[in-house]
Amino acid sequence: MGGIRAIKFMKLTIGHLYPKLMNIYGDRGNIITLANRSRWREISVEVKDISLGEPIDPEIDLFFFGGGQDKEQILVASDLQEEKGRALIEAVENGAVLLSICGGYQLLGQYYRPHLGEDLPGIGLFDSYTVAGEKRMIGNVVIEISDSLQSDYSRHAEHPKTLVGFENHSGKTYLGKNCQPLGRVVIGFGNNGEDRQEGAVYKNAFGCYLHGPVLPKNPHFADYLIQQALRRKNPDFQLSPLNDSLETLAHQAAISRAKSTR
Ligand code: GLN
Repeated sequence: MGGIRAIKFMKLTIGHLYPKLMNIYGDRGNIITLANRSRWREISVEVKDISLGEPIDPEIDLFFFGGGQDKEQILVASDLQEEKGRALIEAVENGAVLLSICGGYQLLGQYYRPHLGEDLPGIGLFDSYTVAGEKRMIGNVVIEISDSLQSDYSRHAEHPKTLVGFENHSGKTYLGKNCQPLGRVVIGFGNNGEDRQEGAVYKNAFGCYLHGPVLPKNPHFADYLIQQALRRKNPDFQLSPLNDSLETLAHQAAISRAKSTR
């Protein structure tokens, strides 16, 4: 009875980083997906906005950091320096989950070198750096999830081995040895259009270039993030399955569209 009771009153606290500044190409939709897929399982959800000058709450289970253009990245990069960046790293080191997309992802590495102006300092959560390339990398993306993540994922449920999304960036991100790619590019450019790597993973922190928003068409990834976040306080927690027939159709349609447009 204790187990069922514990699940009945579970709560997921989501920290939305810079919701007004870092929210392009529908990235806010990832918050809606995470909240709905939790509430559909009777898990209560609280979303806390974390804007410029506001602190990182160490009790947050899952952070989301969307994409943004260079102009917004300059403001956010400065805000993330010192204590705030350190607090975000500490939360991840303590097991918090983090999903970052494109411009947000870039600022979690060592630095982002835009076309014009000074390098923007990152916080060094990911062992990576980004430099603006000459051309924008735009289009539908399909990646194959990395084996390391696969093995962790697949203990729980059957799911596609792919992630789909849409990319639009000039930044080319290169990974160092202390973080792994989220996956291998099957269709699209990915991190830099050169090494067929896409995204970055460090503990339960994930970065990627997959806009869309990424989570509605990748319910398996959304559930993995939710489950990892709730396991921070309940290590044996197991997320119950949902009927994802529509999401699976959308995932397959995105793969077909990517094949026909690249
Ligand atoms: N300004 C960054 C780039 O162009 C990030 C853009 C984004 O978040 N889509 O690479």
